[in-house]
Amino acid sequence: MESNHKKVFITGASRGIGKAIAIQLAEQGMQVIGTATSEEGANKITDYLSGAKQPGKGVVLNLGSDDLIDAVGAILKDDGPFDIVINNAAITDDQIMMRMKQDQWDNVINVNLNGSYQVIKTLLRPMVKKRWGRIINISSVVGVTGNLGQANYAAAKAGVIAMSKSLAYEVARYGVTVNCIAPGFIETDMTAKLSDDIKEQILKQIPVGKMGQPEDIAQSVLFLTTDAAQYITGTTLHVNGGMYMA
Ligand code: NAP
Repeated sequence: MESNHKKVFITGASRGIGKAIAIQLAEQGMQVIGTATSEEGANKITDYLSGAKQPGKGVVLNLGSDDLIDAVGAILKDDGPFDIVINNAAITDDQIMMRMKQDQWDNVINVNLNGSYQVIKTLLRPMVKKRWGRIINISSVVGVTGNLGQANYAAAKAGVIAMSKSLAYEVARYGVTVNCIAPGFIETDMTAKLSDDIKEQILKQIPVGKMGQPEDIAQSVLFLTTDAAQYITGTTLHVNGGMYMA
């Protein structure tokens, strides 16, 4: 089945990597429904998707909310079913373990790991029924390497990888693939908050000598949505300029 006429659901499409992915897939003719945490963000998504061959739209969704399954269920009812589900939205709240507060741990695990689980759980069944689906979860290089000050974020991102592998076993026979992309350091709002000092240290660890762009991740997502990638499941694609070679 060609992927061009597919319907895509992507979290965190208001900016950064999620926006680049949404634009990339919309340019291929896919209809994209993207989420933001505010009406303003959702409207921005609707604006940039309005000129697409199959116009998409933005919807409000907070992955930290208590009624996430109901909220995603409502999106499924209004705009689904979806052929391609991309769990992209995530937060950081960095602190060394000795100073980390319980709520810093809980929030990051809740949004980044529980959020992805609940989105997939709600949207999975129609893909299984259709015998075609692509689930792409955006993890991180630090989910594999760990990172100072990021025990919460790294644990969540490692969890996303393990969850994806387990689900890949479960749904492979139904034509649904489940993969992760683990970006290295990409120029977005998430990395803009790092100090120049830290950025300089990070750059020294990247063999290609520069940070990645959101479009670098979007291209990899596009590949995983295509029929060319139909035999790839349960894997993590590292897109990191060589900073970690798995
Ligand atoms: P970003 O620029 O900070 O954008 C985050 C996106 O997630 C926004 O669309 C934001 O929506 C949404 N979001 C934030 N909190 C949310 C919540 N509670 N519920 C639902 N949506 C929420 O991030 P990014 O750098 O593009 O990162 C995208 C993905 O790549 C994340 O999974 C991140 O962990 C991963 N990643 C990034 C890098 C990097 O170097 N940038 C490296 C490795 C992995 P609003 O606009 O409404 O706030």
